[in-house]
Amino acid sequence: MAAARHGAASSTDVRREAARRRAFAVISHPDAGKSTLTEAIALHANAISRAGAVHGKPGRRGVVSDWMELERTRGISISSAVLQFDYRDKVINLVDTPGHADFSEDTYRALSAVDCVVMLLDAARGLETQTLKLLDVCRDRNLPVITFINKWDRPGLDPLALCDELVQRINLRPMPLNWPVSRAGLFRGLLDCHDGTFVRYGRTAGGATAAPQERLDPRNAQAAAGEDWARAQDEVRLLAESGHTFDLETFLSGQASPLFFGAAVLNHGVRELLDFLVDLAPAPTPRSDTTGNQRELDTSFSAFVFKVQTGMNPAHRDQVAFARVCSGVFERGMVVTNAAAGRPFATKYVHQVFGQQRTTLDIAYPGDVIGLVNATTLSVGDTLYSGKPGVVFPRLPSFAPAHFAVARPADLSRVKQFHRGIAQLQAEGVVRVLRSERRNRGGAVVVAAVGMMQFDVAAYRMVSDYGSPIALDHLEYSVVRRLTDPRRRHLIDTGSRSEVLVRADGTELAVFTSRSDLAAVRRRHPDLELARLVAGV
Ligand code: GDP
Repeated sequence: MAAARHGAASSTDVRREAARRRAFAVISHPDAGKSTLTEAIALHANAISRAGAVHGKPGRRGVVSDWMELERTRGISISSAVLQFDYRDKVINLVDTPGHADFSEDTYRALSAVDCVVMLLDAARGLETQTLKLLDVCRDRNLPVITFINKWDRPGLDPLALCDELVQRINLRPMPLNWPVSRAGLFRGLLDCHDGTFVRYGRTAGGATAAPQERLDPRNAQAAAGEDWARAQDEVRLLAESGHTFDLETFLSGQASPLFFGAAVLNHGVRELLDFLVDLAPAPTPRSDTTGNQRELDTSFSAFVFKVQTGMNPAHRDQVAFARVCSGVFERGMVVTNAAAGRPFATKYVHQVFGQQRTTLDIAYPGDVIGLVNATTLSVGDTLYSGKPGVVFPRLPSFAPAHFAVARPADLSRVKQFHRGIAQLQAEGVVRVLRSERRNRGGAVVVAAVGMMQFDVAAYRMVSDYGSPIALDHLEYSVVRRLTDPRRRHLIDTGSRSEVLVRADGTELAVFTSRSDLAAVRRRHPDLELARLVAGV
């Protein structure tokens, strides 16, 4: 039988190209060094020539992209986009995740577009709250996790204690692939656990270019690093004896994590991480559709939208929908169908976007992320495909909102714009709009978010894009459950300390001001089913 054709590409071409792809994201707590590591990775892959090019001024660090005034004034990164580059014979898609402490759903959604993650820890802090939250999502999706312990050039925790923390707190078995020679703060280099050599780094001015390195065999390492070398060898031996050696299966199943040490700001240990990513991190695999069938990589083109962003280019307020390719070949100009609307549209403008840089993209394969410019009908979670058979991928998981507010137009002459704007923000996933019989009066809507900053972004966008300022009245709810029986809604919708709000997909959310209010309702109605909302529900 003749191989399926995708334009000029055959099935074999598609499978070969997919096998060359690596799509990953870095998860971390703010300040652990994610921007710095991203930059160091780009530097090693020659995607930039000097550190500083992606994140701000040449020289030293700024923040990722400054496309939005709000972002600039606050000095935080709100947008997430993708950096694509070649490294050795592979094509890497590094999906950026907004790293502000005030969590947004954007970060979660970015994780649906990748095949593995790098968990970045600060050597002095170990596991921190935001990392833990993100790790939960990775676990939910069975994403393999690579651990990189950063800032080893500064005083930090003991490396064995850090390993212990991974086992005790998150039940993740570390498998060191290199090990620091000397304590944190006195970084002399790394013991390569694979061949037992000592990797020693030179410094470059301000860490702006990749650090030169030399490898010493164990005998020379002993002469160069003396007791520190002996201690590193002992520690690695100890870990190996207790089963902490590299095993591909347990990494891919998410039970164990390859462990690397380094200092991103000095570019130390970054090449080792990248080499591991291209050698052993997973390539794209077939994705399941809503019926549970797997869409093989060499089927015709399919992708899903994981992010919609407006105003990336302040000169003309355009909208970019970011989609992860799941099967087939994407070629610029191709006509694709949006499964939700059932309508075909031509993809004339397709870009790779990272920070403020854009390049036009002509072709993409499974594992790549494409930025569709001005595809205004697309919403987060939409499936795109071309040819036959069609496909619908499951909607992206929605996360339990933690903040609620009533939004109303502050300028009554702009009510039409208000509703247009709110609908757009809902499509982009900036906030979720909930229905409420009681509160949907006088044009008011209830909005919900995972992080408070989502409200700030919404308020800003309503003024800047729609000329319709909004008034936000925060609702004091903090506990959310799913009401499984809508006939019992009146038991909760009492108005003072609890009520029912309805999601666009019809899910009824029971919201309470506190855990004790929830407990009181439970005591009064012991048979009332109130389910916990977990990722994906
Ligand atoms: P992000 O919030 O996770 O993106 O963190 P940044 O990349 O902005 O880094 C936060 C701070 O840590 C900055 O001042 C960096 O220069 C610093 N930093 C990042 N990596 C290292 C490192 O390896 N060693 C040291 N000493 N500082 C680092």
